[in-house]
Amino acid sequence: MQEKINKIRLEAEKELQDANEERQVENIRVLYLGKKGKITTLLKGLKDIPQEERPLVGGLANQLKQDLEQGIAEAIKRFIRKNQEERLAQERIDVTLPGRRISLGAKHPVSQITERVVEIFTSLGFSLAQGPEVELDYYNFEALNIPKHHPARDMHDTFYISDEVLLRTHTSPVQIRVMEKQPPPVRIICLGKVYRRDSDISHTPMFHQVEGLLVDEQVSFGDLKGVLTAFIHQMFAPDTLVRFRPSFFPFTEPSAEVDIQCVMCKGKGCRVCSQSGWLEILGSGMVNPAVFRMVGYDPENVTGFAFGVGIERIAMLKFGIDDIRLFFENDLRFLRQF
Ligand SMILES: [Zn+2]
Repeated sequence: MQEKINKIRLEAEKELQDANEERQVENIRVLYLGKKGKITTLLKGLKDIPQEERPLVGGLANQLKQDLEQGIAEAIKRFIRKNQEERLAQERIDVTLPGRRISLGAKHPVSQITERVVEIFTSLGFSLAQGPEVELDYYNFEALNIPKHHPARDMHDTFYISDEVLLRTHTSPVQIRVMEKQPPPVRIICLGKVYRRDSDISHTPMFHQVEGLLVDEQVSFGDLKGVLTAFIHQMFAPDTLVRFRPSFFPFTEPSAEVDIQCVMCKGKGCRVCSQSGWLEILGSGMVNPAVFRMVGYDPENVTGFAFGVGIERIAMLKFGIDDIRLFFENDLRFLRQF
């Protein structure tokens, strides 16, 4: 009997030693200590052996049971520790590795110019005004002295929504909306998206415009020249040459287009300025008395000037970009340069 117990002990110890995973240890437990396990059966059989042998054999069997239980507990502990170590090794983080860089965005060139324009004009005492992009024909054209069938409408390539509703082709309707609501003096700029059915290297169906309006008593063309020259000098360079060229707009009289000395060739003549040395930058003029009458201002008492300029146009000249469509393609290789 003692021999049998020793044999079971050796067998169990060897199996326990050979076990590679927790599941095998569990199998060993069932095999020896389970309800029908070898040691359980052994202990049950004690009653069948002679009385005098019982204490010795019983002692050995119980000792074996205890030792095996302890061995199994230790083996399980060993596996838990091993698993933990493996997991820690797998999930190890090398804190000395360089971190992942967060790529910082930058402001879109159109936003950069817009912010600069606002900064310059607010410092000159202008405030910001806003108006709808979906506009009535009345505000976009008629109130600006462009009646139906007026040839000037052809220049605008308008997106019509219905006969009376359209996408604004310029920011000028905001002037009318502001003047309808408030008596003079007025000193505003309006910034926003405008829409025209046009698309090529220098036109996109949507672009940004800034419009300015100053109305007060005794505003002269000299004021217009002073404000726009100050704006151009702050936007480009203090020594930028500026010239005013007679032009025509239905809502201003007299009207002038403003050119700056070519920023590419400094006036020598190049491809960008078509060898002229000058670049057209904005349109302006003294507010047409007909426009004042439309909003109920008395042209005998007040005068004013207005101007409009494309934000993309400024950005192209300032950053030396020759295709307006680049602003809206959102190619990161292009945008990252700003
Ligand atoms: Zn040039």
